[in-house]
Amino acid sequence: MTGRRIAVIGGGVSGITAGYVLSRADHVTIFEAGPRLGGHADTHLVESPPGPPLGVDTGFIVYNERTYPLLTRLFAELGVATRPAEMSMSVRCAGCGLQYAGKRGLGGLLPGLARGLDRRRYLRMLTEIPRFHRAARRALRRRTPPDQTLGEFLRARRFGGYFTAHFALPLVAAVWSCPPGTALRYPARYLFAFLANHGMLSVSGAPPWRTVTGGSRCYVERAAKRLHEIRLSTPVRAVRRHPGGVDVTDAAGQARRFDAVVIATHPDQALRLLDPPTRAEREVLGAFTYTPNPALLHTDATVLPARPGVRASWNYELSGCAPARPRISYHLNRLQDLPAGQDYLVTLGARSTRAASSTGWTTPTPPTSGSSTSTTCPAAGRWAASAAATTSATRGAASGRTWTASWPRAAWIWPAAGC
Ligand SMILES: Cc1cc2nc3c(=O)[nH]c(=O)nc-3n(C[C@H](O)[C@H](O)[C@H](O)COP(=O)(O)OP(=O)(O)OC[C@H]3O[C@@H](n4cnc5c(N)ncnc54)[C@H](O)[C@@H]3O)c2cc1C
Repeated sequence: MTGRRIAVIGGGVSGITAGYVLSRADHVTIFEAGPRLGGHADTHLVESPPGPPLGVDTGFIVYNERTYPLLTRLFAELGVATRPAEMSMSVRCAGCGLQYAGKRGLGGLLPGLARGLDRRRYLRMLTEIPRFHRAARRALRRRTPPDQTLGEFLRARRFGGYFTAHFALPLVAAVWSCPPGTALRYPARYLFAFLANHGMLSVSGAPPWRTVTGGSRCYVERAAKRLHEIRLSTPVRAVRRHPGGVDVTDAAGQARRFDAVVIATHPDQALRLLDPPTRAEREVLGAFTYTPNPALLHTDATVLPARPGVRASWNYELSGCAPARPRISYHLNRLQDLPAGQDYLVTLGARSTRAASSTGWTTPTPPTSGSSTSTTCPAAGRWAASAAATTSATRGAASGRTWTASWPRAAWIWPAAGC
């Protein structure tokens, strides 16, 4: 032990991982605004008679060993069991009637050729997929201007509206859990780097995906055991730096002095805490904005395609061919390899839901039974490039006692942040 006292603000996976690593040498106190640790690593226990309760995840669900080496190492250190996850995607469009699924074999692709559908446009879209992959890889090699958006990239290379609505946007929006308007505004180069890292810029070669047996809570609980002091339901209001330390003041007005602080909240929240922020911190942290994206955990399988062959891990449902807010449903049975008796789904962008009860399970319409959980997604803009370029400016800024680590960077790398 060095005897340093470190405050970690934010008990999501970024904060817990930072605290877990630091606790080898330092005394770590973690401040979490909510009543539980984990943040977007959020496992719900659901009854599954006659077996034990199942841990189903509404946030972080899957990872792979190629792209997430540090998370893989963390799981190994913690002795967390993992197992294979199925990564497939279906698209359904109420406008033109198209439905198909990728990574579900021929049976997932054939429904796109059904009678009454525009087969010519569908086949053309399938042949355009390798062209899209090639163009995106080329854009990465040639370093396309950092602020070119996905929408501008698609228009410049003449990918039509049908391809954009039925392939490109579902791909991006499903993996990023964000609305299509947001996806079109993402900087193309960062998006492609992310897709390339995950083997998604080619028809084959994706790394095998895995999920934590029992849900994310398993690693959250094990890592948290290493932390020396955990302050739940304790939002931090201000972080003030002095030559001799850092004062952390909670919402109740109680101030404590630490030798250093790790801020593991989203950047917009981090900026509000810093009293005062430096110019670099204002520029970098202020460049990120978030949009609310409520997620609903439920058991209503009617949000899945009716044909079993088209059901996939991610199911993207469009109300029309023009980019509009889709409904995206994760089929947790496939992603988490859950028993088949009961379907468990997480739906983002559900059009009408009743508020969740405090006990968790409630009766929203649709789906028929669920619990809602609030998530936020990074809203795109032209911020990512400038922010990534200057992120180092915020690391250890202002006397080397403040460190930021959270979802902004992870949003572009997608490993559970910090890992
Ligand atoms: C629906 C969905 C599905 C996802 N699926 C995957 C997936 O399959 N694989 C994957 O790799 N990633 C996935 N992600 C992304 C992943 O969940 C996140 O990248 C990761 O969990 C973010 O962790 P974090 O610790 O950075 O942030 P968070 O989990 O958001 O944690 C931040 C914490 O800080 C706390 N906080 C905020 N302000 C304060 C304050 N003032 N004082 C104290 N505490 C504060 C918050 O309460 C919160 O607990 C998914 C995300 C969503 C929304």
